[in-house]
Amino acid sequence: MKNVLGAKCMICSKFFEDFEYVCPEHQSEHEPEHEFDYKNEGILDIKYDYNLIKKTFTKQKLANNKDKSIWRYTPLLPINENSPVPNLFVGNTPLYSLNKLADKFNVKNLYLKDDSRLPTASFKDRASAIALVKAWEKKADVITAASTGNAGAALSGLCASSGKENVIFVPASAPQAKVAQLLMFGSKVMLVNGTYDDAFDLCLKAAQEYGWYNRNTGFNPYMSEGKKTCSFEICEQLKWKVPDKIFVSVGDGCIIGGIYKGLKDLFKMGWIDHIPKLIGIQAEKSSYMYQAWKNNENIITKPFVKAETLADSISAGLPRDRIKALKAVKNTKGEFITVSDKEILRAIPDLAKQTGVFAEPAGAATWAGFLKAVKQNILSFDESIVIINTGSGLKDINNAMKSVELTNMKYNKVEPSIDKFRKMMAS
Ligand SMILES: *Cc1c(COP(=O)(O)O)cnc(C)c1O
Ligand SMILES: [Zn+2]
Repeated sequence: MKNVLGAKCMICSKFFEDFEYVCPEHQSEHEPEHEFDYKNEGILDIKYDYNLIKKTFTKQKLANNKDKSIWRYTPLLPINENSPVPNLFVGNTPLYSLNKLADKFNVKNLYLKDDSRLPTASFKDRASAIALVKAWEKKADVITAASTGNAGAALSGLCASSGKENVIFVPASAPQAKVAQLLMFGSKVMLVNGTYDDAFDLCLKAAQEYGWYNRNTGFNPYMSEGKKTCSFEICEQLKWKVPDKIFVSVGDGCIIGGIYKGLKDLFKMGWIDHIPKLIGIQAEKSSYMYQAWKNNENIITKPFVKAETLADSISAGLPRDRIKALKAVKNTKGEFITVSDKEILRAIPDLAKQTGVFAEPAGAATWAGFLKAVKQNILSFDESIVIINTGSGLKDINNAMKSVELTNMKYNKVEPSIDKFRKMMAS
């Protein structure tokens, strides 16, 4: 990979030409099983040689590329040009222009980037696709991940498409549809009797002991690099006219960090003229990042918070990619917004009815956050806004049905008789 110079630790700024996961300087400072384990916190940021990349990679060249998948951006990805990529198609999700809603909410432009359209129906396919290529490059036989559900499902499906063995750790409470995906794709499934944070720690230990390639968020530095392809697509779809704000839901913080990384890449390539403000949406009941940002806390030492939102994909007591997430919001002068579980449940049908896009709770959280931003008057009429839906509503029907209850949605029970139907219609 001539395009990659190396990686830099987000904590100590040490630069490595050779690296695997987190910064080794931070790996052994604390006893394992310590009440709060800091040893895996030195997340790395991949550094590119933009001057070299610019020589052969241009907007024109990109425009001429018929491959619409994320692999059209390979010169800006940390993989070898000729490494095999998974068979499933990843990328090119639609960016819908919501003109009527822009008028309704008094903003200049409103767009919905629908990443529920990725092959396993969540944003996580972008990252898992890179994990598969890296595992191939490193000649690893088995890949593993801990996940609230979607990262696992993404890895699982992409592995199935490439015939790769994989082991997925999810909390036993993960939505059934996500567990079903894992089982259908033939993963070895570990339902962990505990939280996502417990599953994460167990997965790290198991990977180390059995020598598996580890896709874990906030640990494997390449995941932000896959996630950044969403920014590439948004900017390309907008013909390089960047929006003013992008709304992203935040759990571990890898997506928002990746979105920021993609924008920075494009800025350094000279393809966009400024970087939009990033608005991170968290659930009130899992709001580590919001609290840290609002109170200016030290996120290296800030301990776990309780995380118990029904939006399982953004439930994270200790956001694993919090350093990158906080930078993304601070450096772009964006902000964090929290939304309650009720607001999330109301946002699911609200978004679906107005756009035709059915989101899982974590995906609809961005819509709830947008509505809150409108209410709080923090948006202006001359702003272009992009909202990202990160996951499909079909992944969590239980919560969708809770929103049916909460919003008193009515449906009709009818006998299969046109006479009775007429009576019902007349009443
Ligand atoms: C993972 C996920 C998120 C949050 O991404 P983080 O990188 O954990 O912040 C949001 N929505 C969905 C549907 C997800 O699967
Ligand atoms: Zn370090």
